[in-house]
Amino acid sequence: MSHKKVRHVLGLSGGKDSTALAVLLHREIPEMEYFFCDTHKELPETYEYLDRIKARLGIKIHYLSAKRGFDHWLAIHDGLLPSPQMRWCTVKMKIKPFEDFVGDDEAISYIGIRADENRDGYLSTKPNIKPVFPFKERGLVKADIIRLLEDSGIGLPDYYRWRSRSGCFFCFFQRKYEWVMLAQEHPDLFAKAVEYEQNHKDGRIYTWTEGETLLELLERKDEIIANHEKAINKSQKAAPNRPLAEALESVLDEEDDDLPCLVCNL
Ligand code: SF4
Repeated sequence: MSHKKVRHVLGLSGGKDSTALAVLLHREIPEMEYFFCDTHKELPETYEYLDRIKARLGIKIHYLSAKRGFDHWLAIHDGLLPSPQMRWCTVKMKIKPFEDFVGDDEAISYIGIRADENRDGYLSTKPNIKPVFPFKERGLVKADIIRLLEDSGIGLPDYYRWRSRSGCFFCFFQRKYEWVMLAQEHPDLFAKAVEYEQNHKDGRIYTWTEGETLLELLERKDEIIANHEKAINKSQKAAPNRPLAEALESVLDEEDDDLPCLVCNL
């Protein structure tokens, strides 16, 4: 009787934690299979970051869902845009492609939740996929993750200057400041997000961000930037040695403690 080998899989999201996990494990587990669930709506910085990871670690990444991006699934959902209450996007574009990738094989899925985080939650319920949490097991916290990334030469993704989470450019978990910065950094992508908001087909008034349209939000740009800068200054005073990217992350987290899904944002 032949026994199939257990597969080792690690999902990269284009975020810092899953990347640091790849840095930690790529030598320890050479047979690791890396994958990225591509929604076709990622930031260009994310694709660049994935290229950097491949080059530095010498690994191969499987891009899942290559033919069926967001627009395909939006059509299947009759134009119903996703929201925190209706999160079909994560299920269809992140979890399902991952489960199809693993199929019925026995697999260990490596997840980059840190020892200083209180979230757990594995989104697949398939019994053949066993989640493991190496950072938690080894007691590794945020500072260790940053060090791993720096030592590897990969560093942080470029979008960290203005946005703390990976994921779709229009992700509804984005904070107001991040929307303002999207308009500044990628005006074409911001315009596309506005288009989705204005042209969706299900008859609801749809706004990606709570309480206002993206164009209304952009009118308040100066106020949003000023508030953000105030919060950054306060945070820098409280922890002067902290790198700016970390201050940004903590300020944005204070603004909103909604946790986005784990697969999009690790
Ligand atoms: S990043 Fe946001 S919009 Fe994209 S799949 Fe994840 S939750 Fe949905």
